[in-house]
Amino acid sequence: MNTSDRPSCAALSRRAALLGAAGLVAACGGHNWALGGPARGSALSAPSHEASWIGLQCDDPLGTLPGPIHLKVSGGTERDLGFACAAMRRVLEFFAGHGLTPDRRLRIEFKASVFLDLRRPMHRARADPTPSNGPPAHAERIVGMFHRDRRTVLMTTEASPWIRSYTYFGLPMSDEMFTAMLTHEISHALSKSLYAPPLLDPDADIRVQQEYVAFVVQLSTMDARLRADSLARFPASTHRFTSEADINAWALGLGPEAFGVKSYRHFADDGGGSVFLRRLFDGDFRPPKWLRYVY
Ligand SMILES: [Zn+2]
Repeated sequence: MNTSDRPSCAALSRRAALLGAAGLVAACGGHNWALGGPARGSALSAPSHEASWIGLQCDDPLGTLPGPIHLKVSGGTERDLGFACAAMRRVLEFFAGHGLTPDRRLRIEFKASVFLDLRRPMHRARADPTPSNGPPAHAERIVGMFHRDRRTVLMTTEASPWIRSYTYFGLPMSDEMFTAMLTHEISHALSKSLYAPPLLDPDADIRVQQEYVAFVVQLSTMDARLRADSLARFPASTHRFTSEADINAWALGLGPEAFGVKSYRHFADDGGGSVFLRRLFDGDFRPPKWLRYVY
């Protein structure tokens, strides 16, 4: 596709979810996206194969985290780095609040653009390197994703004009939205260490579990007003899982945003959802398999 085209967030999200990208994101406006002024930092990232990494230590102003946060970051602006630290804190605080201690090692590569390779199997999605002469025909542009094979979050920089006009849930981009996007991606990366080994087999398809977790972390840690605005787009009377069997790839493929809202409500209705989270990570919850016969 041509990058000058601007498919809707929903379309991109649906595509990514269908392909199993641990990547597409929810979130929504609320605060002003300080786009009027230039980003303070310089810099877009080099293509992946040329990425150079720096160490980034995030502070812990509330003293709520066990130990310092160290990230490896490539590219991005100063604002990107600030958002990355904020998102990292959110993810760690969320998991700590549920008695879970994920691996804290993380790499984030900020890029001018991220393209999803559409040729990959659904649960082995990966990004293409940033093309030097236009987008590859087999790729689709996305906000970001967790690249399982490279153990790296690939994220469009906040300085990108494309992302500055991005909307999700019909709401405009904002600092809070961007942070929530990063929170989603970082939760994909860190939660990987929480799954039981059989679920981490390269052939295991845990897209549903991954997206459930990422949306729950994203929406749970989101600014309350922004979350309310997001949820309001999906009435609780019609957007709620009525049983665990509803938590499946079909629901995810039909609409990642709706799936995210339903996941959050399911988690919240469970009184915090710690028990379900542990079942999910331990492999005691598996999405129904009958869906393979639908396609
Ligand atoms: Zn995701």
